[in-house]
Amino acid sequence: MDKIKMLTPLVEMDGDEMTRILWKMIKDELIYPFVDLKSEYYDLGLEYREKTKDKVTVDSANATLKYGVAVKCATITPNKQRVEEYNLSTMWKSPNGTIRAMLDGTVFRAPITIDAIKPAVKKWKKPITIARHAYGDVYKATEFRVPESGKAELVFTSADGKELFKETVYDFECAGVLQSQYNKDSSIRSFAHSCFKYAISTKQDLWFSTKDTISKQYDQTFKLIFEELYENEYKEEFEKLGIEYFYTLIDDAVARVIRSEGGFIWALKNYDGDVMSDMVSTAFGSLAMMTSVLVSPKGIYEYEAAHGTVTRHYYRYLKGEDTSTNPMATIFAWSGALKKRGELDNLPLLVAFANNLEKASIQTLNDGVMTKDLSGLVEEGFNVTQVNSITFLKEIRKRLEALYA
Ligand code: NAP
Ligand code: MG
Repeated sequence: MDKIKMLTPLVEMDGDEMTRILWKMIKDELIYPFVDLKSEYYDLGLEYREKTKDKVTVDSANATLKYGVAVKCATITPNKQRVEEYNLSTMWKSPNGTIRAMLDGTVFRAPITIDAIKPAVKKWKKPITIARHAYGDVYKATEFRVPESGKAELVFTSADGKELFKETVYDFECAGVLQSQYNKDSSIRSFAHSCFKYAISTKQDLWFSTKDTISKQYDQTFKLIFEELYENEYKEEFEKLGIEYFYTLIDDAVARVIRSEGGFIWALKNYDGDVMSDMVSTAFGSLAMMTSVLVSPKGIYEYEAAHGTVTRHYYRYLKGEDTSTNPMATIFAWSGALKKRGELDNLPLLVAFANNLEKASIQTLNDGVMTKDLSGLVEEGFNVTQVNSITFLKEIRKRLEALYA
């Protein structure tokens, strides 16, 4: 077979530890033999971030802004222990944080589902994608432990010095706690654009939920901004595709999600998204099967796995032990990025390859060939052959070659 040609380069961000090992295996076994890969390579491995004073992260984000599609390997976010381990000159910021800020993007997480592993919620048949607004709210709140009786007030002074708002929050008669939160229209708007764009891109319904009946200014603002953008910019496209934008209260949404069959995107405010994404991903099975894509309000896409660098497996790998690390989410980061690149450049062969890669990967799991993390999760009576990472990739390659034979 002739290798599939690309037009525009894919931005490739390499990473750390076990996922860096998997990254190379995936390219060697599943990409290079089939695709004449055109990529602009950035090494976001911690050593090279240190060497470039983290400039490589910024460069990779700029390249993503330029070309529109990136694929990223998991990377270490340094903490104190990593600063010592890697002899770092400073505690570099999370690459994901830097890239997200530069793209002004929203993260969408969706599970890869297979027949042999049933979600904890029996009604769920299709993946549920969670979109979390990762800005402001309780994560940027100002808090105060009130030590004694006294008055708490909320005051707003405009930039030119006018006091536009002043209200008593509470007249404390005893000790207590106090918190103030904020968010910005610009950030909520970006979040909403990313959500509508991703719903269109994946042809799925978009749900959004807040508690606007109780929070009549704060949550109401989120609701109104979504409504306005939908009516003015996205309604027509949604109707053309036969998909729906659906707003409901968060408690109603929770009940409906549990009773649903899945197959939609659920957009959530920062805290709700933090909690619900962990619940939904756990109910679907394994972290190793969770994909993640960062979508900018302008429609720029960065694909990755939701999990980290799988440090514990890496240390075993360094000792020469055989590891059975699951490469599925990283494979789907590649297929997602290649598919999007193919769509944007109008390359049906590249889109078909990405679909075939996913099909072959799922087929391998449905044939019972899987890594250790999954073999314990499968339904009773299902025959499993547990394999290491490289054998798993070779099994996928066999099935992928068969699809092209
Ligand atoms: P992790 O890498 O996600 O791994 C946590 C545990 O989950 C692993 O020890 C393993 O459990 C299981 N696991 C995760 N992915 C797996 C896979 N593909 N196959 C099989 N098992 C898998 O999280 P972490 O250990 O907390 O973090 C490690 C490093 O990753 C940290 O330096 C952190 O900064 C970084 N991180 C990066 C990203 C990112 O780049 N997006 C996200 C999160 C964390 P068992 O050991 O029980 O097998
Ligand atoms: Mg969480």
